[in-house]
Amino acid sequence: MVMMPPGAAGSRGTQKAVLAGVLYDKETDPQLGALLDVLKAAPADSLDAVQAAVVRDAAREYVKRTALPKDLAQRIAKLKTEAYAAWVKAKTESDFSVFAPLLKQWIEISKEKARLIDPTKPVYDVLLDDYEKGATSARLDQVFTQVREGLVPLIAEIKSRGRKIDYSWMVGDFDTEKQAELCKQVAIDLGFDTTHGRLDVSVHPFTGGAHPTDVRMTTRFKKENLVEGLTGAIHETGHALYEQGRNLEYDGLPVNNALSMGVHESQSLLWERMVGLSRPFAAYLMPLIKARFPEAFASVTPEQLYEAENVIQEPSLIRVEADEVTYPLHIILRYELEKGLLEGTIPVEDVPKIWNERMTSDLGATRRMILRAACRTSTGRWAPSAISPHTRWGPCTPLRSTPPLRRTSRILRT
Ligand SMILES: [Zn+2]
Repeated sequence: MVMMPPGAAGSRGTQKAVLAGVLYDKETDPQLGALLDVLKAAPADSLDAVQAAVVRDAAREYVKRTALPKDLAQRIAKLKTEAYAAWVKAKTESDFSVFAPLLKQWIEISKEKARLIDPTKPVYDVLLDDYEKGATSARLDQVFTQVREGLVPLIAEIKSRGRKIDYSWMVGDFDTEKQAELCKQVAIDLGFDTTHGRLDVSVHPFTGGAHPTDVRMTTRFKKENLVEGLTGAIHETGHALYEQGRNLEYDGLPVNNALSMGVHESQSLLWERMVGLSRPFAAYLMPLIKARFPEAFASVTPEQLYEAENVIQEPSLIRVEADEVTYPLHIILRYELEKGLLEGTIPVEDVPKIWNERMTSDLGATRRMILRAACRTSTGRWAPSAISPHTRWGPCTPLRSTPPLRRTSRILRT
């Protein structure tokens, strides 16, 4: 779909609907259901722990699939393609009204799906289960409330007493081929297995691939900024290590699938943030950088690199450019919007207005910043993620990928 010409969205949607129908027939085959029933009724000691988990997960998926009529599965597939095309157009033209009607349809079809799968649970929870098994909005409310209560005052404190640091040396002219070679070296040092995976360049970083023995990850490089490519590569290496670590003994079985989006992201962020932005890692990285860019980094110490990488920026209104402190607020806002849309407390038309209000109240954004961001970023920022027709766990973007250019950036000593 990345390479699809915009005029092909209609025919592509029809193809996807036909394929969805073929898949539907296989996934809801009554014979499969009958076999699962036999296995579910098997004596407790006749299956080992892994076999029991396979039956549990397969039965769970079977129930979800058979709850939906074939016609609905096909309509979902078709709408997904049409909504994606509208989102791309809205993003290009910075015009939310292009995407809004499709988003409305998507919300309605999602509600229809959720009610058929489990009418006893909140719609949001039923849909969330596809991404985070067993997670509930009640639990997310608790977690996000706690995170926001801690972050908003922290951002204010950083603004008022943070120490300004000079990291102008991080901006320069860095050959992208050398950057790619450096990132490959780092990925290999972190354990990425190149006999079962590749690292390539693309506009949007992501990790994908057909199998744990064939893991494809990409990153992007900017000539003027070394850190973006590096953090991106470390982040994607985290995803790739999770994929390559899946147990081939259970190949093809449900228990061998990636557990959830949250678990996947926990691995990429563990490597990107906990390892990649630590002092010991800066000490490891400095010689590798100096070997490739000796002039630009001649007088830079590992401590300076560590500080520069951990700078807290003025709030960015673009999620993928946000730093560690403001990033969670972007996620919380998206969660609250999509929950409100599904529960009917937020009309689709109000999304841009609420977005702007919350950007001001949570992130301290000014009207000028919002207008500037509206011109630069995608309308997709208004597209909810868990119910969004165009997002899965990839392509994803490193937590902090913005060029550290702003002079007002600060760091707090810990
Ligand atoms: Zn990620």
